[in-house]
Amino acid sequence: MSTHRLTAPAPGWTATTDVVVVGSGVAGLTVALNVRKAGLRVMVVTKAMLDDGSTRWAQGGVAAALGEGDTPEQHLDDTLVAGAGLCDEEAVRTLVTEGPDAVRRLIATGALFDRGEDGEILLTREGGHHRDRIVHAGGDATGAEISRALVAAVHTDPGIELIEHALVLDLLTDAVGHAAGLTLHVMGEGRRDGVGAVRARAVVLATGGMGQVFSATTNPAVSTGDGVALALRAGAAVTDLEFVQFHPTVLWLGPEAEGQQPLVSEAVRGEGAHLVDADGVRFMVGQHELAELAPRDIVAKAITRRMQEQGAEHMFLDGRHFGAEMWEHRFPTILASCRAHGIDPVTEPIPVAPAAHYASGGVRTDPHGRTSVPGLYACGEVACTGVHGANRLASNSLLEGLVFAERIAADLTGRHRAGELPERTVDVEAARSAHPVPLPPSEARAEIQRLMSHGAGVLRSAASMADAAAGLGLIAEQGYAHAAEEKPADPRVETWEAANLLLVATALVAAAAQRAETRGCHWREDFPERDDAHWRRHLITTLAATGGPVSTPEEQ
Ligand SMILES: Cc1cc2nc3c(=O)[nH]c(=O)nc-3n(C[C@H](O)[C@H](O)[C@H](O)COP(=O)(O)OP(=O)(O)OC[C@H]3O[C@@H](n4cnc5c(N)ncnc54)[C@H](O)[C@@H]3O)c2cc1C
Repeated sequence: MSTHRLTAPAPGWTATTDVVVVGSGVAGLTVALNVRKAGLRVMVVTKAMLDDGSTRWAQGGVAAALGEGDTPEQHLDDTLVAGAGLCDEEAVRTLVTEGPDAVRRLIATGALFDRGEDGEILLTREGGHHRDRIVHAGGDATGAEISRALVAAVHTDPGIELIEHALVLDLLTDAVGHAAGLTLHVMGEGRRDGVGAVRARAVVLATGGMGQVFSATTNPAVSTGDGVALALRAGAAVTDLEFVQFHPTVLWLGPEAEGQQPLVSEAVRGEGAHLVDADGVRFMVGQHELAELAPRDIVAKAITRRMQEQGAEHMFLDGRHFGAEMWEHRFPTILASCRAHGIDPVTEPIPVAPAAHYASGGVRTDPHGRTSVPGLYACGEVACTGVHGANRLASNSLLEGLVFAERIAADLTGRHRAGELPERTVDVEAARSAHPVPLPPSEARAEIQRLMSHGAGVLRSAASMADAAAGLGLIAEQGYAHAAEEKPADPRVETWEAANLLLVATALVAAAAQRAETRGCHWREDFPERDDAHWRRHLITTLAATGGPVSTPEEQ
């Protein structure tokens, strides 16, 4: 039963469905399409427009062992290396063995991937992969094509109800603590407007990432960690939050740039572009056998280190030797976005710096996507299935969204057929009695982002994280003080998002401060070594009765 909920008006309207899916990226839409095959009614609720999540922005592609000579076992090996000792090997095995067919089913759904003149699917390579195994579309517009195909497919199924501009607030449970629906705020007109409730037999969170917790990120504005915050308030366990992947090569737009920044995909390095420092020296050579194609954490750390050594704000990615034709055909999106910012990669190196990119952790799930709250599932970037460990291997995330969405749908279908998915009665009394979390003002968003980028960014230390924790604590206290003085912030999208960002940031810093080692994408200046004896285990975060997150190391 939720002990905490966001401050919000009581629901003014109610709707009913069988399965409610929150989010319309690769994970949410794949769950919806597959659950429908069992004849269950599905409602997809999504914060903005259907294609507004990270999925649309994915450039590089989807990793799957489809090439000649490649095998799931080799894909598994590369994934385990990137995960730095914290992957759940069984989850990875599931990902890599079910992955190739999941990609084929996505093609059958309508996604058009790039093919050679012989009609065969073209495969490229990205950091950490020892084989060409990345399927791509439109050159560097893979996510846009996947999103287009899935959105088109859900539109053709009248059994899938789609509600856009619907910000989900909190989980509803029944008297035995089984998920029974959710509360949400719809920016609509007419019958479903304002705060309402959706009753359902099961709830699937597919809310994507939390990149907006940091000042500079590749994630779109909707990636505010809402699913993780909701799950924490609902009593679910969350894990591996400290493992945030910073993408090494994000277009550097100046010291004041904030919010979503354009990505320069790893595939550009995969095709042979070089990282060079302020003096034009290729600094990745000799640092790792794969040089520029080393796993992302290694490249992000090397860039950060060289930036510090040279007192530079960015490094450069040099792809001038590709020539105009290759840039135009292979990387049209990146070329256009660089040119839109006054940089021409055909004639000049691209200024790049690391930015928050991917949440390897999230709501803890079992191999069927079930969370620790019965009837609550999590899928895609919001989930932690265990496949990424301490660092995600490039292009494994779209694949994870596909594979585990199919598994969630299979689990729901099986339970439905076995009569284990009855209608639920929402315990409204319990829902309203949960402690309302005071909302920070909407301006808190920028302050949270600033604190996180300074204190818990690529390079962390006990001191930097103590500063971040103190600042975040102050924002929370101000929220409580204003609520006590009866001057609370208005409940609205901006303040609900700020409350979610605050909770997720606080939980992330608490976990990162506790992990006294350097592993994967968690880099501690004060603990530079990996410490398997103490830390080859996960930190599980839950919400204490006081409303603060508590991280506990898993038993070894
Ligand atoms: C620039 C960029 C490039 C990338 N490139 C690649 C790549 O090449 N290969 C790869 O594998 N991965 C890549 N990734 C990562 C990958 O795109 C994401 O991990 C993946 O798309 C996540 O899918 P998802 O369905 O979990 O979430 P998303 O696609 O982010 O969708 C989340 C959905 O949830 C909705 N939502 C969020 N909160 C709420 C709420 N409170 N109420 C209602 N709805 C809500 C959002 O509006 C959105 O519809 C990239 C990511 C970025 C940002």
